[in-house]
Amino acid sequence: MAKLYFHYATMNAGKTTMLLQASYNYRESGMTTMLFVAGHYRHGDTGLISSRIGLESEAEMFRDGDDLYARIADHHEHTTVHCVFVDEAQFLEEEQVWQLARVADRLGIPVMCYGLRTDFQGNLFTGSRALLAIADDLREVRTICRCGRKATMVVRLGADGKVARQGEQVAIGKDIYVSLCRRHWEEEMGRFEADDFIGFVSP
Ligand SMILES: [Zn+2]
Repeated sequence: MAKLYFHYATMNAGKTTMLLQASYNYRESGMTTMLFVAGHYRHGDTGLISSRIGLESEAEMFRDGDDLYARIADHHEHTTVHCVFVDEAQFLEEEQVWQLARVADRLGIPVMCYGLRTDFQGNLFTGSRALLAIADDLREVRTICRCGRKATMVVRLGADGKVARQGEQVAIGKDIYVSLCRRHWEEEMGRFEADDFIGFVSP
């Protein structure tokens, strides 16, 4: 039985590196993989998945309304697909997550999704909510907070170096994301006042 996997993490946890490495392993064994990346914030028809350590690979883009089951089934008809990889899976629509489940269930192709669980305000992304609900296999990609605890949350630093407490779910531009544990995330977001609060901006 092929499965639908969801590897989730905060920013900067190395998810994309894991995806590219796994796809490379398939291809090195002579197998075919299909890679998808969100086209929501990109132009053109071909996407590029690149990791911070320099690995990269071309990928197809998915956008709202795309039928991923149809696209994969179509490709699979002339070239056997052994595994499907989806980066930035938090941007999938709920229906697209179901389409990927059908790819596993009806085409017998494993689907490996990689993405963020929550946004900087601690809310689930649409695609992540659906994946957490119906994926066969959930795997947490770990990264650590500045305190050494496991980081499960992310804050966004604006151009002024300050933590954004409100705003759009996704900001395009020079914003920086920092992974934190839940305790320090609450302090940075101003939800809890701690005596030993450090903060990102020194007074
Ligand atoms: Zn911490």
